[in-house]
Amino acid sequence: MYPNDRYKDWFRGQGLWAHVPEEDWKNWKWQLRNRITKVEQLEEYLDLTPEEKAGCYFANQKLALAITPYFFNLIDRNDPNCPIRRQVIPRGGEMKVSSEELLDPVGEEGTMPVEGLVHRYPDRVLFLVTDRCASYCRYCTRSRLVSNAQDYNFHAEFEQGLKYIESHPEVRDVLLSGGDPLLLSDHKLDYLLGRLRAIPHVEFIRIGSRIPVFLPQRITPELGEIFKKHGPIWMSIHVNHPRECTEELRQATERLAFSGVPLGNQSVLLKGVNDETEVMKALIHRLLMMRVRPYYLYQCDLITGSAHLRVDVRKGIEIIRQLRGHTTGYAIPQYVIDAPGGGGKVPINPDYVKEITESEIVMRNFAGEEYRYPLIPGKGSIQPADKPVGEPHEIMA
Ligand SMILES: *Cc1c(COP(=O)(O)O)cnc(C)c1O
Ligand code: SF4
Repeated sequence: MYPNDRYKDWFRGQGLWAHVPEEDWKNWKWQLRNRITKVEQLEEYLDLTPEEKAGCYFANQKLALAITPYFFNLIDRNDPNCPIRRQVIPRGGEMKVSSEELLDPVGEEGTMPVEGLVHRYPDRVLFLVTDRCASYCRYCTRSRLVSNAQDYNFHAEFEQGLKYIESHPEVRDVLLSGGDPLLLSDHKLDYLLGRLRAIPHVEFIRIGSRIPVFLPQRITPELGEIFKKHGPIWMSIHVNHPRECTEELRQATERLAFSGVPLGNQSVLLKGVNDETEVMKALIHRLLMMRVRPYYLYQCDLITGSAHLRVDVRKGIEIIRQLRGHTTGYAIPQYVIDAPGGGGKVPINPDYVKEITESEIVMRNFAGEEYRYPLIPGKGSIQPADKPVGEPHEIMA
């Protein structure tokens, strides 16, 4: 028997759309056509707070409002502070721009040799292949171009991007992102992956996508075949809260994994969403249960109007400290800050090193106890000052 009991608390079914034929519900194009994109539609289902109403009216100047019916079902409609709601329903806070905030918070525009291609690190590129997503995250780093609410008029330049990669032999890793690459048709994805795979120096292709989370119906058997054909393709999905781990997402990740796609997760640390250790722990445990390895936990970028969602970095460090050693190592993401202005991702870690002397490193373990390790053979002792360690052990015969 399949141990489905383990997943019994995971959301499943059609929720508010129980009346819709299953065939439609499972059709990703139906989900896209029936997205909630207007204040009036939202109000059919829930009472918006004045904060949210203000945010919704402002959204068409910043980042469009769109929520798939599938994802909307995960919102607790009676809770204005629902962690799912905070991610996709705009708030008035989006209109307040603080002095440290930027339209291009991680300085992508400065390192684009071709429109949509960011070449920041020596050996890899970020290839933006569309400006559309299935739903829009209110804290999106690329709000300036995603959804085109700010008239950026982004055009994915496939051929120019491919040409750039073809003529740069140092590029061994291509990360497809956007917008969401999985909104491209099967035909376009097949073409793009085929072209990339044909470039001899491209060793590694990966896709950053929130489609499995917003629109798991898109992960069709046909899409699985495309990944098999052009694999290995790696994928980073984007789950922020344990409630986003549903039966449908579990099935989608299973299909991806069975198509040979290794899966990682990138979360953004968000106030009122996942800034408690217990929530983060539940999330990463569920991810492992879906064959997804937590990869990065991002400090929220300084995107305009994001102050209400940003968390103190010290809190982020504390969450990681409370995870390391206290749960499965595989479950722990690397906490990073994408350095404002274009510095790239910088790992932010709790400090386990107390000091490094001439002869040893003095460290603290997950429980806060001190240990030491010698730097030079023959000098120093592993015995902590306040803690006898017993007889030096001999190699067992
Ligand atoms: C995040 C990012 C990458 C990929 O970084 P990894 O640490 O290899 O996952 C590549 N290019 C840009 C511009 C990025 O922002
Ligand atoms: S899915 Fe990604 S690109 Fe799209 S709105 Fe969310 S964070 Fe931005």
